[in-house]
Amino acid sequence: MHPPQMRARARALRARGHNIHSVARALSLPYSTVWHWCVDRPKPAKFGTELRCFRCSPNVGNPTDPETYAYLLGLYLGDGHMVTTDRVPVLRIYCSDAWPNLIDACDGAMRAVLANKVQRIQKQGCVAVQSTGKHWPCLLPQHGPGKKHERPIVLVDWQRAIIEGHPGHFLRGLFHSDGCRSANRVTVRGKEYVYPRYLFSNRSSDIMSLCQWALDLLDISWRMNLPWSLSVARRDAVATLDRHVGPKS
Ligand SMILES: [Zn+2]
Repeated sequence: MHPPQMRARARALRARGHNIHSVARALSLPYSTVWHWCVDRPKPAKFGTELRCFRCSPNVGNPTDPETYAYLLGLYLGDGHMVTTDRVPVLRIYCSDAWPNLIDACDGAMRAVLANKVQRIQKQGCVAVQSTGKHWPCLLPQHGPGKKHERPIVLVDWQRAIIEGHPGHFLRGLFHSDGCRSANRVTVRGKEYVYPRYLFSNRSSDIMSLCQWALDLLDISWRMNLPWSLSVARRDAVATLDRHVGPKS
C-alpha cells in the first residue's frame, strides 16, 4: 500500500500536465500504479452508500460481500422490516437481549453490506438494530406494506444466485432470527433420550420454502413438525448444520 500523500502527489503532477511516464519516473512508481490512480480512478475512492449499491452504481458488480449479504437476507426475512415512508428508508432487525453476539453480528452485517452507521435501540427484551440508507430497498426488494406472512415473498434472480452460492450463510441468518438449536427429549420404552435439533418457525410459507430450499442445497434432511415449524433432527443433518449455523450466543 502506498501512502495517500503519494497518490495525491501523483495526481497533482498529472494535473500540471505531466504524462503518466514522467509522473511514474519522478515518484519512482510503476507505470501501472500511476495509471490506475490518475486514469482508472482519478478521484479518491468514496465509501458513500451510493457507491456500495450495485444496482445503482455501475462500478459495483454485486452486493459487497455476498456471504454477509446472504446472512443479512436471512436475518431480514426472519426478524426484519423496512420502513420506506420516512424520507430515508430504515432497515430494522430485532435481536433478542438474550443473544448479545447476535446483535454484534447483525450490526456488522449491515455495515459490511451497505451501512455507514448502525444504531442500536433498546426495547423491552430486545434491541432494534437499525440503519437508514437510501439504497436498502434496492438491496432488499422484498419490502412492502403489511406483514411478511400476508404477502408473497419472492427472491429475484440475483438474490437466488447469491443463496445458491452461499446457502449456509443464508441459513445462519434464518436460524439466528427465527430458529434455535435446542435439546429435544424423547422417551422410548420408558427410557429418556436427549438429542440436539434445530427448529425454524415462520408463518410465511414462502420464507419456509426458502429455508427448505437452502437446506436441500446442502443435502440436509428436514421435516415439518408443525405446519409453520421445521425440524432438523437427524444426527448427520444436525452435524452439517452445526458447521454452518451453530448455537446462538
Ligand atoms: Zn441503489
